[in-house]
Amino acid sequence: MKTLETCQTLDAQDPLRPLRDLFSLPEGVIYLDGNSLGVLPKTAAARVAEVVTEEWGQGLIRSWNSAGWFDMPQRMGDKIATLIGADAGEVVATDSTSINLFKVLSAALSMVQQDAPQRKIIVSERSNFPTDLYIAQALCAERGFKLQLVEPEEIAASLTDEVAVLMLTHVNYRTGAMHDMAAITQLAHAAGTLTVWDLAHSAGAVPVALKADGADFAVGCSYKYLNGGPGAPAFVWVNPIHAERFWQPLAGWWGHAAPFAFTPDYQPAPGINRYLCGTQPILSMAALECGLDTFAAAQALGGMAALRQKSLALTDLFMELVEQRCAGYGLGLVTPREHSQRGSQVCLTRQSGAFAIVQALIARGVIGDFRAGDGQVHPDILRFGFTPLYIGFEDVWNAVEHLKQVLESGEWQAPEFNQKHTVT
Ligand SMILES: *Cc1c(COP(=O)(O)O)cnc(C)c1O
Repeated sequence: MKTLETCQTLDAQDPLRPLRDLFSLPEGVIYLDGNSLGVLPKTAAARVAEVVTEEWGQGLIRSWNSAGWFDMPQRMGDKIATLIGADAGEVVATDSTSINLFKVLSAALSMVQQDAPQRKIIVSERSNFPTDLYIAQALCAERGFKLQLVEPEEIAASLTDEVAVLMLTHVNYRTGAMHDMAAITQLAHAAGTLTVWDLAHSAGAVPVALKADGADFAVGCSYKYLNGGPGAPAFVWVNPIHAERFWQPLAGWWGHAAPFAFTPDYQPAPGINRYLCGTQPILSMAALECGLDTFAAAQALGGMAALRQKSLALTDLFMELVEQRCAGYGLGLVTPREHSQRGSQVCLTRQSGAFAIVQALIARGVIGDFRAGDGQVHPDILRFGFTPLYIGFEDVWNAVEHLKQVLESGEWQAPEFNQKHTVT
């Protein structure tokens, strides 16, 4: 049986422990929501201030060249590439995940329209993150395709010769369940279908091998596990074999082959650069770079493989302690126990009270979040993200201790924990 002392020993032996000092964690908080908004890297405030006062304030327009502003999407992209199994020059950081999904999905549909015009269906998962489904719905309406939503176990059977694109989120935001990217991509390709992967809950959380797995398109988020700050530029990758086949539909000047030639005709830049649209948010890029540089520091300590090992140990421990110490309170587990099927979060269910329990935990400084179910197939969820860069084993012990006390005391039933806010 694990004890507080076991957890303290695990922290003392953890080779990644020094990474925690790279982050500014508020006093008295156990932060289990890095899957939703990552923590502030200690370097970010000073770096953003420097960009404001020096590069903008003093350098002014010269900074596009002298401070390397213009190349930031590619520089961030190269740093992200190392975390997702892509090569340098294949990724750009830009826009939001939703917008990047629109671009790649549109390019994928154009490819299919040319190569296999009878294929008119996009398959995705019913419990995919809604923005992905909304973007797909809008594109389907515009381009004459149909969106078909399936459960994970129905994916293989759904891949008929009418399916144009399989659009999946690698790690499910509600359950933390992870798809086998290599196996599914292989199935899709055997069925003549292109794959679009959303790495929002994967990049920086689990090892990803886009190129080795033969994926076609990918997008992902930088303000979650990559600690890029609220609204940080997202990223986009297109397999180099497809990157130049079509324009993406948001053909702005930053994606032009020669933006400063100011010609009236659009000529797409080679490769991934055509997936840029307009002027980039440089202050946000500067903050993002600080987040990405914490991974550069992790690289020296074993990189994603070491982070993954710790993440699995943290999530295993959380599952075990919840079972051991919170039994009899009606909690269920939706996150797979099987390592190969698990992201970096653990999601619990409860028939009722999930929202209020999360609120009561937040009042105690244990920050997770709540995701509503559909009242039918998918239950309400208490979601806890474990970021191995800054979460330790004693944090897990303490979080479970608070959960136990919240359930034991029934304090979650107080009216103030049952009021919904705009952002959950
Ligand atoms: C977080 C998340 C997004 C976020 O999209 P934005 O455009 O940044 O708001 C999109 N897709 C998935 C799967 C996510 O988890």
